[in-house]
Amino acid sequence: MSVVQRKAMLKAEGFFPHKKNGKGTSIIYSRKHPSAKFVRVVVDSGIDSKTGKVIGKVGVKLCFINRQKQWREITTEVFTTNTGLVKTIRAQEAAEKFVKTCKHCKAKKFTAKSGNVVCANACWTNWSGNKKKTTQKKPQKNPPKIKAQKSSQKKSPRNLQRKTVQKKRQKLQEKWTINLQPGDLVTVEECTKDNTIANDYSGKILGIVASVHSDAYGTTRVQWTANASSLEEWELPKYAVEHRYKHSLSWNRFKVVSRKVNWVKA
Ligand SMILES: [Zn+2]
Repeated sequence: MSVVQRKAMLKAEGFFPHKKNGKGTSIIYSRKHPSAKFVRVVVDSGIDSKTGKVIGKVGVKLCFINRQKQWREITTEVFTTNTGLVKTIRAQEAAEKFVKTCKHCKAKKFTAKSGNVVCANACWTNWSGNKKKTTQKKPQKNPPKIKAQKSSQKKSPRNLQRKTVQKKRQKLQEKWTINLQPGDLVTVEECTKDNTIANDYSGKILGIVASVHSDAYGTTRVQWTANASSLEEWELPKYAVEHRYKHSLSWNRFKVVSRKVNWVKA
């Protein structure tokens, strides 16, 4: 399989080489999808950019370019040889109509790192922004979201309440924990004092656990990837340890959706 032949086929198919490959050393080619807006046919040539030699099969996939100009893979990359190249390109082009479309903004959906199929524009972040502009703006503007959450959380009445409670040294009734691990997919549930779930946000809120600290609260950092609920960012859970006090009626806590793990009384 000659390099010349492969390059000639790509050129004949209207592809142009990219200057960079963020993931490897091979030359990436792309061009517009023949009919779908913002969709590009992307080809990993399998030709090493330094040596000019073939280092692998040629891979073909479709990417959707979202509003932030990020390239989102919307089909699975298919690898082939020179002989199958044109056929694979046609197959990928045809696959476009089977890629789901976001009903809200018409963007293509893609499989996020979380494993969930979500809108390539992440348009849900705008919905919550529209609902409560004043409260949502701050955390969204600052890239280190966790810090922004913390500062706004300090002002929240619930936390003030917690501080007063601590001052009064109310008796800790129970301590519950959940064994969270980085990479866990989590949603939110509202648990009441009699251990019933008053609200389950599965399907509305989704996040990926980034880290869990071994401090007294099990402080947990979560990358929230979707929130179609009415909960504000500061209302989302942050701890893998629950300190239940007598006065606690209900609270929002993590619910792991990617594996079976429950809250247990410590
Ligand atoms: Zn959308």
